[in-house]
Amino acid sequence: MKQITLGKTGLCVTRLGFGGIPIQRVDEEQAVETVRHAVKRGVDFIDTSRAYTTSERRIGLALKNANKRIILASKSVSRTAKDLRKDLETSLKNLQREYIDLYQCHFVKNADDYQQIISSGGALEALVKAKEEGLIGHIGLTSHSLDLIEHALDDNIFETIMVCFSLLEPAAGDKIIPKAIDKQVGVIAMKTFSGGVLDNPQLALKYVLSYPGIALIPGVEHKNLFDANWKVFQSSWKLNNDEKNEIEIIRQRYDKIFCRRCDYCQPCSEDIPIQSILGLRYAVKRFGNAVLEKNWMKDGIKKARQCSACEECMERCPYNLPIPDLIQENLKWLDERG
Ligand code: SF4
Ligand code: SF4
Repeated sequence: MKQITLGKTGLCVTRLGFGGIPIQRVDEEQAVETVRHAVKRGVDFIDTSRAYTTSERRIGLALKNANKRIILASKSVSRTAKDLRKDLETSLKNLQREYIDLYQCHFVKNADDYQQIISSGGALEALVKAKEEGLIGHIGLTSHSLDLIEHALDDNIFETIMVCFSLLEPAAGDKIIPKAIDKQVGVIAMKTFSGGVLDNPQLALKYVLSYPGIALIPGVEHKNLFDANWKVFQSSWKLNNDEKNEIEIIRQRYDKIFCRRCDYCQPCSEDIPIQSILGLRYAVKRFGNAVLEKNWMKDGIKKARQCSACEECMERCPYNLPIPDLIQENLKWLDERG
C-alpha cells in the first residue's frame, strides 16, 4: 500500500513523506526546488518544525502556488499554552497557511515534560483551542522515548505519534507501533536513517517501508537524493536474504557505538546532555555547522569536557555503551575539525 490513513485523523497520505530538516543546510533556492520536486513526484505529506530554523519558511515558499493539496505537519517544543500559541502563529505565517493539518508537541523528553504539556496552562490547552478555532486539524506528539509514547497512548489524548523507527532502532515495531495502530493513532516514523548514521539510505528506507501501516518522513536537500528515495518507494519493499544479512552486519557494527537517544543514562553528575554529545557528528551532518552555534550545544560541549569518567551513566545504559570513551571520541573529532 503506497498510501495510508493516519489513524482516526482520517488524513490519507502517501507513505513516503518529506521531512523538513535537511533543507535548512542548503541555500533557499535549492531548498525550494527540492520541496517542489518532491511534490511533483507525488509527495503529499510534509513535516517540519518551529525548531528547524528556515525550514517552515522555505516550505511555505515552495508550496505557495501548489496546485494540489499538501498535508502539512509542524511542531513546537513549547510546553506552555502561551508559548505554544505564539509558535503556532509563527508557523502559520511561515507556511503561508490559514490552517495546518497536524500540529505536534515536539521532542517530549520525559514524564515531567509530558505532565507540563497536558496540565492546565500547558501546550495541549493551546492546541485544543486552536483546533476549535479551525487553525489546526489534529494534535500529535513526538518523542524519542518509547515509555513515554506508550504512556501517552494509554491516555488517548494525541491523534498521532512520531516515533524513532529504523533498522538500528527497531524496538518500536514490537509493541508501540502495533498498539498505536490498534488504537487508531496515526504513526509517523522518524529517524529512517538513524539520524544520519546509516550510509545505505536505500536499505534503511526499504526496512521502514516493509513495516505496514506507517508513514515516514526522510528528509533530503537535493532532488537527486529525493529521486533515489522515490525509486525505492516505487519498487518492492521485500527484503531479500542479502539485505537481511547486511542489516545484521550493520547492527553488529553499531551495536556498541550507536546511541538510541533513550536518556536512560541520565542523570549525569556533570549535567552532560549525553545523547546530544554522542550524536554530535551526525547532528553536524544533518543540521550543518549552525548546530554548533546553538547555546544548548555550546553549553553541552562545555559540560562534556568536564566528564569525570565516573561511569555511573554506563550502569544505566541498556545498550552498555562505553559512554565516557564515546564522549571523548566526539570531542576529539570536534577539536580536530578546528
Ligand atoms: S561518565 Fe561522564 S557522562 Fe557519564 S555520568 Fe559520569 S560524568 Fe556524566
Ligand atoms: S547513551 Fe545509552 S542510555 Fe544514554 S541515551 Fe544513548 S542509548 Fe540511551
